[in-house]
Amino acid sequence: MNDDELLRYSRHILLPQIELDGQQKLLESRVLLIGLGGLGSPVLQYLAASGVGQLILVDHDVVELSNVQRQICHGTQDVGKTKVQSAIEEVMRINSGIFVEGFEQKADAKLLSSLLPKVDLVLDCSDNATIRYLINDACIAHQVPWVSAAAVALQGQIICFDPRLADQPCYRCLYPEIHDEQKNCATSGILAPVVGVIGTLQAVEAIKMLTGIGEPILGRLQTFDALAGQWASWGLQKNQSCVSCAK
Ligand SMILES: [Zn+2]
Repeated sequence: MNDDELLRYSRHILLPQIELDGQQKLLESRVLLIGLGGLGSPVLQYLAASGVGQLILVDHDVVELSNVQRQICHGTQDVGKTKVQSAIEEVMRINSGIFVEGFEQKADAKLLSSLLPKVDLVLDCSDNATIRYLINDACIAHQVPWVSAAAVALQGQIICFDPRLADQPCYRCLYPEIHDEQKNCATSGILAPVVGVIGTLQAVEAIKMLTGIGEPILGRLQTFDALAGQWASWGLQKNQSCVSCAK
């Protein structure tokens, strides 16, 4: 780290859990971020600001005016740009010392199998159950941990998966089949800061997993009810007959 980096990351380095070693790990980390919407926005901003060294972005969409209410890495002037382009500009605005590249397409099995061998962690910030199953199966195949999250209306949830740990459940253990596919922000609405709460927590979990500090949210689904102002924790066991992860 040079003097500018030591200053930029000094409040991380001050933390006894992170120090120089932890910050160096972040700078050497490669993260795949799928979805640059409401969840992806704070994830992108915090991981860029925190000095995660390589960010690989995937999104097929274009910024629309109805996105700007909650997708805070895009502004009014970005309407009409691809989300990848807008997000890359945001990363450069925050921290030009990191590497960022983007893929303007939907995440599919072929793209995932080409990118996963190159990354340390995947963040699912999509709003699409089909993509989550693809991410789940690709992460199992390539033994890459991932942070899964979702938010709609006034509720959100988050859980981490680590296929390197044999006793850990996978996304299909949690949801054996597609559920609530029609329920998304376009049909049900979303309170803007709810995606901020959940996306920011995804960034926290990502930093924990990349640096190896603390206890990731493994084997328990954390759900957030914004109206009640309450979190709940739901224990999740590996399904011994899961078609994705049971051996
Ligand atoms: Zn499973």
